[in-house]
Amino acid sequence: MLRTAFSPARGGQGWGEELQLRPIFLREKMGDRMNELSAISNPWPLEKDAFEFYGDPRGNHGAYSAEWAHENLVHVPCPWQIHMGEAPVPFILIHRKCAESLHRVLWKTWDAMGQSQANINKAGFGVFSGSFNYRCIRGATAISMHAFGAAIDWDAPDNPMGFGNLKHRFSDATPLIANFKEEGWRWGGDYHGRHDFMHVEACR
Ligand SMILES: [Zn+2]
Repeated sequence: MLRTAFSPARGGQGWGEELQLRPIFLREKMGDRMNELSAISNPWPLEKDAFEFYGDPRGNHGAYSAEWAHENLVHVPCPWQIHMGEAPVPFILIHRKCAESLHRVLWKTWDAMGQSQANINKAGFGVFSGSFNYRCIRGATAISMHAFGAAIDWDAPDNPMGFGNLKHRFSDATPLIANFKEEGWRWGGDYHGRHDFMHVEACR
């Protein structure tokens, strides 16, 4: 059974119109096999091997490569309503290699929250703070996992990035975070030094 309705590529986050991104019908494509796939099927790369694993998103003149984006970025709909500020977000733009894992995390979380939007909102999971985001840092050798479409930020206002004893809502016990970690995603709250409690990324 197809549990999610596909949302059209246009609008929302602004990249769709330019790139004509491919939709992904995960539940339809994977069927029941989705549930049989385990977390160990996620061979996330070491951060230093991200270019090899995810391809090179760098284009010319400090922009991302449209060709890379077309080849690699897909849309994953979220089973609950998410929004960025006031704007509803119809899908999560993510690297195709992360899509199935993300889909599992979202549905597991949705089920854990009793498929209740009210519970989701109470937990802060309705606040989406970005996934693919290409920022070119001139001369820098490392780029953010967001530039590969392999990272997501959730509820940024309540889960700040920074040093020291920051106030934050998410913890290891937060279902959304726990489910990402179970799939091998790295949580920014586990960083040493500068914490990034809103952030999850598909690398080691
Ligand atoms: Zn982030």
